[in-house]
Order: sequence, then C-alpha cells, then structure tokens
Amino acid sequence: MASSSFTEGEVYQESFNSRLYLETYYSSPLGCPEEGNYLGFLLTNLFNAFSSGSVKGQKLIDIGTGPCLHQLLVACEWFEEIIVSDYTDRNRLEIEKWIRNDPDCFDWSAIGKFICEIEGNRVSWTEKQEKLRQRIKRVLKCDVTSSNPLHPVCVEPADCLMTSLCLEAASKDQETYYNAVKNISTLLKPGGSLIMNVMLNQTFFRVGDRKFSYLAFSKEFLTKVLNENDYIIQKLEILHGPDRATNTHSDYESIVFLVAQKQI
Ligand code: SAH
Repeated sequence: MASSSFTEGEVYQESFNSRLYLETYYSSPLGCPEEGNYLGFLLTNLFNAFSSGSVKGQKLIDIGTGPCLHQLLVACEWFEEIIVSDYTDRNRLEIEKWIRNDPDCFDWSAIGKFICEIEGNRVSWTEKQEKLRQRIKRVLKCDVTSSNPLHPVCVEPADCLMTSLCLEAASKDQETYYNAVKNISTLLKPGGSLIMNVMLNQTFFRVGDRKFSYLAFSKEFLTKVLNENDYIIQKLEILHGPDRATNTHSDYESIVFLVAQKQI
C-alpha cells in the first residue's frame, strides 16, 4: 500500500537541500555519528568489490547520485567513463560545481583521503580528484519511475550500474520499486554488474528539519525483486544499524551492500 506521506520527486526538486545533506551525512569518513559506520562499511565493500576483479569494464552509470561523489571517488580507479544522474537540478549543479572546481564546491577531502588509505595510498588525493573530474563524462537528469530513466537522453548500456539509497526514496510502494529496478536495468549490459547500497526496514531520513520517505522492506523482498529481474546475487553484506531510539536522522535497521550480475 502506498504510504500517505510518500515524498514525490517534485518535493525533492523543490526542497531537498543538497548542501545540508552533504554536511549532515558526508562531512567525514565517520559519516553522521548517530547513524553508525555506514560510510566505512560502504566504501570498504566497494573497494573490495572492484579490486576482486569480478566487477569490470569501461563504463559505469550511477543512478540517483544526489550531490554525492564518495562512491565515484572509489569507482574512478576502475572505470574510464562515468555517467552520473539525479532527479533534482540542485543536486546535479552541486556535482557540476565540483567538476569545475568552483571555489564554493563541497569539500570531499576528508572522505577522499580516507578512500586513498583504503586503497593503500597507491594514488594521492590530488591525483584521484583529477582522475574523477576527467572520468565523469555526463551529468544527466534521471527519473527511475520512467521506462527510460535518462529520458530524453539515450545512452548505450553500461558495464556497471551503481545506485545508493535512491530507488527506495523514489518508490511509493513495492510495485513501483520492482518497476524501478526493471527500468534502471535497461541501462546495464547483459553480464554487467549492479552494485546497490540499500537500507533495510527504514521508513524515513531527515535533512535538517525536513523528513523524506523511504520504502521499508526486508532483505528477502530485495533479493526476490533482483532474482525476478534476472539478477544473480554474487555478494551481499549486511551491517546492523545503531539503536533506533538514539538515531533521530533515520530509522534504518541495517544496511546492505550487494553486487549482482545481470544474466546473459
Ligand atoms: N545516492 C546518494 C543520494 C541518495 S538521497 C547517496 O547515497 O547518499 C535520494 C536521492 O534520490 C536524491 O538525490 C533524490 O533527488 C533522488 N530521487 C528522488 N526521486 C527520484 C526519482 N524518481 N528518480 C531518480 N532519483 C530520484
């Protein structure tokens, strides 16, 4: 059943404060302290997935990037062509500002240096920034509820599709979620990898005093949707979240990092 308090895309467009979101959740590698170590968990798993050699190719599309670059600061060592996408103008602008090295762009250095450390300091933070700036080829409007999420742009399917905390924010019910997975899958080559970062049993998250809805479901629902959309789950890691009683930012129970292969 659709939640009466579902946050529509237009609400994101009007009132999702990109900068406050970054300051709240992405100021440091520790993330937002009330939320537990989700960022360390995610970034380490992401590095392990890429360095294992099972996720490879030339082109990667990130769906619902928001104003965020942390995942791409890892991915840029492995993919030469990166497309980022989001529903709101403000989020895309925030990314474009960073690409241009605008004096007012968000400072990713704390998280960036942490990523360099995870990678064994083979690449410096200065080199990494430069690499990502060159490798992001396009910043596109995206709507995961549309059969071509990047409409009106058509792109060739990618070798890797990555999405974090987006499909659940964009889906009012389980059927919409199933269709969102189906829609984004058109952007992935058969045999390609889908990387997802998903909160389980979460109903909301906050940005300042604004509350945004989040579709709550179990791990079983998530794996069922992926299997029904012809994915084989190759890796699934779970981290339990903090005590809900002490977390005012969201009510997630646990976080899942997964890699799935689209069947050929
Ligand atoms: N990927 C980022 C941002 C997640 S916040 C992270 O991991 O932190 C949720 C994002 O979903 C927002 O950036 C919002 O603009 C986007 N979103 C909301 N509705 C959407 C839709 N219908 N299609 C695509 N993105 C949507």
